[in-house]
Amino acid sequence: MPISSNMSELTRMHLEPQTGLALAIATGQLLRIIDPLGEQVSDLVSFSLEDTGEWLSSGRTIDYANTIYLTAGHTLYSNRSRPMWTIVEDMVGRHDFLLTPCSADTFRIIYGTTGHHPSCFDNLASALASFGIAPDSIPTTFNVFMNVEVAPSGELRILPPRSRAGDYLLLRAEMDMIVGVTACSAELSNNGTFKPIDVELLLADESGMPASEETRSARAARASV
Ligand SMILES: [Zn+2]
Repeated sequence: MPISSNMSELTRMHLEPQTGLALAIATGQLLRIIDPLGEQVSDLVSFSLEDTGEWLSSGRTIDYANTIYLTAGHTLYSNRSRPMWTIVEDMVGRHDFLLTPCSADTFRIIYGTTGHHPSCFDNLASALASFGIAPDSIPTTFNVFMNVEVAPSGELRILPPRSRAGDYLLLRAEMDMIVGVTACSAELSNNGTFKPIDVELLLADESGMPASEETRSARAARASV
């Protein structure tokens, strides 16, 4: 599809509870992660399309942002210190970049689960396999809508997500990437219930703004003043 100056939605995907997907995104395209019902976390990871040895880095991002609470205006960096994403819009204002994607081991060690339990790690590994990315290459995920508080003692507390139905995070891709996204499978992170996540891939218009009705009407309102 040619890049045009018109704002448009390329793809809308629906993630059932406790599932994941992988997709390719081009520089300048937008990714909107939507929590349709509220209080649902979505783990995000990405790799450079050119070289999957370059991946989204929690450490680099937190170093350069000088905060663990990332929101609109912040850049998410790769392990090679190149911008991968810009957070364009954030309706929630609380996400986590400290914790790894939930995995079979998370459930064994933290929850004491003995049988099978769906996990973000397994869902990401399955989805990313089609792009040739091995499970051991999956780093700390950017955990969209995950609400982790740090007590003065350093203790971490996982609280219910602050997202309400329809809230979203909008990211602009700063390089061509392979992206993995989940609807998180961990009880603690999602206030006890598993819900879906919607994902939209969008083209930005020439102003770099997203293709939402809200944006269009806001611009029309500004123009009429
Ligand atoms: Zn998870």
